[in-house]
Amino acid sequence: MTANVIAAPHPKPAPTISAYNKPYWDAARQHELRLQRCAECGRFWAPPGPICPLCFSGEFTWEQASGQGVITSLVTFHKSYHPEFDNDLPLAAALVELAEGPRLITNIVQADGTPPASGMPVEVVFEDHADFSLPQFRPVRPASGTRPPTPQG
Ligand SMILES: [Zn+2]
Repeated sequence: MTANVIAAPHPKPAPTISAYNKPYWDAARQHELRLQRCAECGRFWAPPGPICPLCFSGEFTWEQASGQGVITSLVTFHKSYHPEFDNDLPLAAALVELAEGPRLITNIVQADGTPPASGMPVEVVFEDHADFSLPQFRPVRPASGTRPPTPQG
């Protein structure tokens, strides 16, 4: 198990797989974050769909993303709205802007006591379940000897 993979602490609802998002979930199972990239304008997009939302081209490839991003918006749930998330409280749900541009709605995990905040750099981590792997994000740990990142905004 690599450093960016964590064992599922308990079962979670499985994603609904469609023809459009199957490559995303197949890549996640291999512990890769892949995004669609337009063959016409070169931009990445998420969530998966049949055409580029920027120029409407239907020509695209699936490319591996860096897995790096920044929290742009955040909410912390202290009440569970699904029994399979009861043990995750408090649950940090965030909008993460990826280095490639698209924004993903995701969970922030492994914050190690530091409250997640807008502007905080994060990296992808894959939570392995029996039949799928769930991409989530965790704060980027500063290398020893360097100052921690300063949240902005
Ligand atoms: Zn395009």
